[in-house]
Amino acid sequence: MENNQKQNGQKKNNLMKIIVLTLMIIGLAVATFVVYYVSVKDGQDDNKLAFTELMTDINNGKIEKIEMTTGSNTLKVVIKGEEPEKEREKTVLVPSLQAFMEWIQEKVDKDGVEIELNQKPVNPFLRISETLFSLLPTILLVVLLLMIFKMQGLGGDSGKVYGGEDGSKKTNVKFSDVAGLDEEKGELIEIVDFLKTPKAYLDMGAKIPKGILLYGKPGTGKTLIAKAIAGEAGVPFISMSGSEFIEMFAGLGASRVRKLFERAKKMAPCIIFIDEIDAIGSRRTSNSGAETENNQTLNQLLVEMDGFDTNETIIVLAATNRPEMLDKALLRPGRFDRQITIPAPDLNGREAILKLHSKNKRFSPTVDFKDIAGDTAGFTGAELANVLNEAAIIATREKHKEITNQDVENAVKKITVGLEKTNRVISEKDKKLTAYHEAGHAVVSKFLPTQTDVKEVSIIPRGLAGGYTMYKTNEDKYYVSKTELLEKMVALMGGRAAEKISLNEISTGASNDIEVATGIARDMLTIYGMDDNLGPISLKVDDPYELQIFGDKVIDQVGNEIQQLIDNAYVSAQKILLEHMDILDRVAQTLLEKEKITSEEFEMFFKDLEE
Ligand code: ADP
Ligand code: ZN
Repeated sequence: MENNQKQNGQKKNNLMKIIVLTLMIIGLAVATFVVYYVSVKDGQDDNKLAFTELMTDINNGKIEKIEMTTGSNTLKVVIKGEEPEKEREKTVLVPSLQAFMEWIQEKVDKDGVEIELNQKPVNPFLRISETLFSLLPTILLVVLLLMIFKMQGLGGDSGKVYGGEDGSKKTNVKFSDVAGLDEEKGELIEIVDFLKTPKAYLDMGAKIPKGILLYGKPGTGKTLIAKAIAGEAGVPFISMSGSEFIEMFAGLGASRVRKLFERAKKMAPCIIFIDEIDAIGSRRTSNSGAETENNQTLNQLLVEMDGFDTNETIIVLAATNRPEMLDKALLRPGRFDRQITIPAPDLNGREAILKLHSKNKRFSPTVDFKDIAGDTAGFTGAELANVLNEAAIIATREKHKEITNQDVENAVKKITVGLEKTNRVISEKDKKLTAYHEAGHAVVSKFLPTQTDVKEVSIIPRGLAGGYTMYKTNEDKYYVSKTELLEKMVALMGGRAAEKISLNEISTGASNDIEVATGIARDMLTIYGMDDNLGPISLKVDDPYELQIFGDKVIDQVGNEIQQLIDNAYVSAQKILLEHMDILDRVAQTLLEKEKITSEEFEMFFKDLEE
């Protein structure tokens, strides 16, 4: 239900935005016309400068002096240059003197732009008609600016706040509203405790993280869990989306970040939640335009993160779906130095989410949520909530007394079709391919003495990968032997080899494996000097040109040897799998059924062999 209301609200919002935009366009057209009309009346055409040009010139440091007259919208500006001042004078008609004055004052005070500002008192001979003419566009533009500010949540509204200082309207989301994600909640519980009793921690000299980054695809419950932290701790939750910082006017994004933190400091202890942080926190580039604007906003965020200290008991939580896009500076100590992955729910998680969201709906007792969980691999929490809502709608339309199994099945189908279009749901075929691929890695490594034990095998997508095989980590090790590197390559090839042997198909899923294996082979030859034919030489050079001293023969040989190493690894992996096809099949089938295999369960497949 809640989900649905949200969607309705969003639709209304969009409609409002369209209306406001249309009004803005009409308003702008009228304003432009009037401004044009007034400026023609002014009769100083060749000495005029467009307002937008003036702003650009100010930003580029081309303006020497600006003279403003209170109550008049005509400025006198002097462009930098060698000629006598009279020749460099221009007049500019500003849409709103007030707004311009504030803007330029900030430029001078904060950004250190050097411009001589002169303010003259009202010209008593200002003609009344002129005043009227100049007022009309001003009013229009002020209204427009207000609308824009309102739409973008500026004008004092920096960030949505749930819960005021009086504590009367705190978010009432609790950890119990977040299903599954037990480990993640466990990690975040100390943040709740800190927000509740900051003094105890500070007295003890404990350092609490300032920023926590939540990684995960949309709808996995990142916002929900952030709200729950605020709800559990009973502190205000200030939220803002990264895309809201991207402004049409230069400098506003940064000033919003500043305002957001100012506000948070007044409300501390509190939580700031920045959704879609990748919108501002993408890697900085040195380009112009929107990117520069983006950089300013990011820099401001870094300044703010560094600026407050833990005594202020503000915790900044940020969410992103694209961690690889983030600027590394954001992840440094004292900023978002703690990262938590919020995965798509596994089988048990999905069941828990379904049960939680079924509470306020009338379900037939025959509905089996475990079954539904089994049919919805790859669904996020938001999508599962949507399934149940859709089922309720279908049941109502069908005039059922309560929601039946069939209603839920139809809802799943309906949503799956929608999802398939966006390629988000995993097809049976992909699932099978992934299952054999991951089973291949796991089974092959089991027969490689130097490889560490399997910790977990899963076909639940993680990041870009369709599944994963996790290995137990080794104790501290300083050296890696040649055998170990060779066997590592064999384990890496196990995925692709299994796809080929079992399904006679190969997929893009092995791209990372191939990349890593090729890297190992290259390093073995060019850095570690592990090749029998080449001998212990280092081919590590800063400039490819330097390789020429080795001659073409050596370079060709490196290429051939890399290929040879990879080929050998692939053949070895294939051999192991062919010998143990039955185990490979069983592991893959189990993965298809359970999605995840623990190390203990995995070891069970090899019990027969040991005896
Ligand atoms: P994100 O911020 O990761 O995009 P949200 O937190 O906005 O996702 O989740 C959207 C909705 O999906 C939530 O309001 C909730 O109804 C549902 N949801 C997602 N994950 C869970 C979960 N683990 N438990 C319960 N509901 C969830
Ligand atoms: Zn793989």
